[in-house]
Order: sequence, then C-alpha cells, then structure tokens
Amino acid sequence: MKSDQYVVIGNPIAHSKSPAIHARFAELTGQQLDYQRLLAPLDGFAGAVHDFIAAGGKGANVTLPFKLEAFALSTELSERAKIAGAVNTLKFEHGSIYGDNTDGIGLVADIVRNAGVSLRGKRLLLLGAGGAARGALLPLLQEQPAVLTIANRTLAKAQDLQEQAKSLSDNCELLACRFEDLQQSFDVIINATSASINDDVPPLAAAVFNKNTLAYDMMYAAAPTAFLRLAASHGAQCRDGLGMLVEQAAEAFALWRGVRPPSGQVLAEMRAALMASQA
Ligand code: NDP
Repeated sequence: MKSDQYVVIGNPIAHSKSPAIHARFAELTGQQLDYQRLLAPLDGFAGAVHDFIAAGGKGANVTLPFKLEAFALSTELSERAKIAGAVNTLKFEHGSIYGDNTDGIGLVADIVRNAGVSLRGKRLLLLGAGGAARGALLPLLQEQPAVLTIANRTLAKAQDLQEQAKSLSDNCELLACRFEDLQQSFDVIINATSASINDDVPPLAAAVFNKNTLAYDMMYAAAPTAFLRLAASHGAQCRDGLGMLVEQAAEAFALWRGVRPPSGQVLAEMRAALMASQA
C-alpha cells in the first residue's frame, strides 16, 4: 500500500530540515509516511496545494513566504491560527483544508519542556512584531506570565500586537515600546525579529539582561547569532530556535498522525549533527 504523502511547501525550500525531522519521527513511532520538499512558484502557492491534494496528499507544512496565503486558503482554522493570522500546518481531510499554526506552541514547548524554564509569573520581552511574534502571542499568554513587553523597530506594529494581546489575557501586564526604551531586565527575552538573518541585533541596553535571563533566538545556525552573542556577553543563558523547529514539527506530526513523536530525542540528534557540521 502507498504511504500517506506529506510535504513542506516554500520558496526557497532546499534548505528545509523538515523532511529529515518527519522521517525520523515516522521511524521512531512506526508510522508509514512519505514526506518531501515542494518548491511552489512565488505566484503559484494555491495551485501547488490543490495539485497535491488531487494527488492524494494528506498534509503540508508551510514556510516562507506562504504562511499568509495558507491562512487564506484554509477552509477551517484552529484558534491559534486565527490569532496568528498565519498558517504553518495544513491537514487535508474529507474535502476540507484545516489550517493550524504550531510555531508558537513549538516555541513554548522548547522553553518550558526542553529548557525547563517556567514562564508563569515571569517578566517576558518579545522582540519583533512580525508573523513569528504574532504566532507566539497566544501560547505565551497561556503560560500566564506577569508581564509581556513587546518591543519593535516600528512602534505601531508592537502597539497593534499589544492591543491584540489585551483581548487574550486579563491578568498579564502588557506593554509596547521601541527597543531604545527598554531599561529594565527581563526573565525571558525572545528574539522574534529577522535581524539575525543578517547577523544583526536590535539595539538593546545591557540593562535588559541579567545572569538569570533566558535569551532565546527563534533563529538557529551552526554558530551563535548576533543576539545570542550579545546576551552571552552580558551573562545571560542562551538558547537558539532549533528546539522550536523540532517542536513545531512534532505538533504538526501529532495533528496528522494522532501520535506524539519523541521530539526531545530528535532534537538531541539534530543538535549533535549541527555541532558535528561545525567541527
Ligand atoms: P517577519 O518578516 O514577519 O517580521 C520581521 C520582524 O523583524 C519585524 O518585527 C521587523 O521589524 C523586525 N526586524 C527586521 N529586521 C530588523 C532589524 N535589522 N533590526 C530590528 N528589527 C528587525 O518575519 P517572521 O516573524 O516570519 O520571522 C522572524 C524570525 O523568526 C526569523 O528569523 C525566522 O527565521 C524565525 N522563525 C523561526 C522559526 C523556528 O521554527 N525556529 C519559525 C518561524 C520563524 P519592523 O516591523 O520594524 O519591520
């Protein structure tokens, strides 16, 4: 019997680690599935999805630049996808296109479960107000932090996110500001800006870090990002986004297959492979 078919759709897509992650999840859970990369033309996302559904595809992960189009294409949406306004996971069933967003829940799983850092009652700083920050909003607030400050280069976007957060929580203090306005230290600082892609870092005062701060960069790379280098220079604990990548994949896998994969084991294996590639 032919295995169930899944893809990760993006443009570009050659760099994606998702096929390796899902192949390992399938191996460790004894699930029969086939997971490939699908390069969709920049103006052809919907067509690529419909062709894949017609060929019997069961589900897809969606990456840049198609998360907003995946949201628009979905005929049903999870609550967190509605709040994120973006979709990174699609499930095709009984003629419907179900859209979910597992990025934020993957971030929280990595911080709380893998790093062992509780967010309850903590002072959180979210850097950035783009798609990744929006996706993190509900899962972060569900952990019941005491304070959530959203800082962004464009203040209006941070304020929009702050307004949205107000409708999701009534006991967390919510603030919005520019990076330059930050003068107090935080328990957890999450970099959801794309500055790291250019080895750049938002202009942060040393005062935002202390030796107990967890500095988390959603991006991962073989070498520490500029944000993590800055945080480390001020004595903070550092973590990159590799665990977020694995955990968002685990949530998608559980949605599709009804089985939770051993994400901690796969993260350890991927971390070892990343370190070996650096050596
Ligand atoms: P968006 O393009 O939607 O948002 C980018 C954000 O970064 C905006 O807030 C923007 O500010 C800010 N920004 C961009 N350049 C700079 C800079 N030089 N200095 C300060 N702020 C800057 O991107 P996404 O939200 O989709 O992605 C953000 C990051 O999250 C990326 O690095 C991505 O790789 C990572 N990510 C990781 C995932 C994982 O699984 N590990 C999953 C999803 C995302 P402004 O509003 O002023 O333009």
